[in-house]
Amino acid sequence: MRPLAIAALAVLAAGPPARAAVNVMAATEDLADLTRQVGGDKVKVEAIAKGYQDPHFVEAKPSFILKLAKTDLLVVVGRELEIGWLPPLIQQCRNAKIQVGADGYLDASLTAKILEIPTGQITRAMGDVHPLGNPHYWLDPDNGRRVAKAIADKLSRMAPADAPYFASRYADFDKRLADGEKRWDAMMAPYKGVKIVTYHRSWPNFVDRFGLDVIGYVEPRPGIPPSPGHTIDLIGEMKRQSVKILLVEPYFDLKTPQSIGRETGARVLVMPPSVGGEKEITDYVKLFDYDLALLVAAIKETGAK
Ligand SMILES: [Zn+2]
Repeated sequence: MRPLAIAALAVLAAGPPARAAVNVMAATEDLADLTRQVGGDKVKVEAIAKGYQDPHFVEAKPSFILKLAKTDLLVVVGRELEIGWLPPLIQQCRNAKIQVGADGYLDASLTAKILEIPTGQITRAMGDVHPLGNPHYWLDPDNGRRVAKAIADKLSRMAPADAPYFASRYADFDKRLADGEKRWDAMMAPYKGVKIVTYHRSWPNFVDRFGLDVIGYVEPRPGIPPSPGHTIDLIGEMKRQSVKILLVEPYFDLKTPQSIGRETGARVLVMPPSVGGEKEITDYVKLFDYDLALLVAAIKETGAK
């Protein structure tokens, strides 16, 4: 038999080649985890921003350009969260599949419920980093569900033979999330309307979902560092309303929050807004388990109302 024929027989004997996993890059670890939840072993996923980093300000490392060059699908938070670091990476990787608007570019915000959409003139004047509505929408589990569905649908179009697999992974995730929501609602039920202050506007979807009341922010505007005048006003308001809890994302300097805590008696609580923000927060469901346990313990200890 001729060598070519032998090679052909060998291919037939081995059966069809295994389909390669879809290569996915996600802008954040939250999106990477949601992709993993629905993609299972049919995807290879990596996040660019780590969960302990401020997602507005990430170093655009050249190593990501090489990875993006080989990516089939790029999942982004959108609403300009990544505008300071992702556009140059997308441009320089020269991968047509993942350019903005191409089939391999998925803007997760398009299926999410977005809060704080500005009315009137849209501007980044004065450094406001939320010009298109609040980009921290993944902190409502229902938005996590919507994004997971959008990713499952996208993967199904990219790898149609695996569509039933993605659908069943999504159904399983949806169920685990629903179980989580029952647990979280029960935990938070006694604490509706508890007043808090947060450093950055990371939590509007979270507080809406779980019934808290944010009365102010350490930042005068999203992305603008605290100023003495604003801090003095905030301290006054926290005293008037007896606010006992100040949430700080892990990547902010604690100096101003701690001085506010000393002046007002409020507890400064460092609470991660993302998967990977603490080593225990290994997936999207654990993010809410971790944060709500931390928050409920602080509410009980401080007697916050
Ligand atoms: Zn923000």
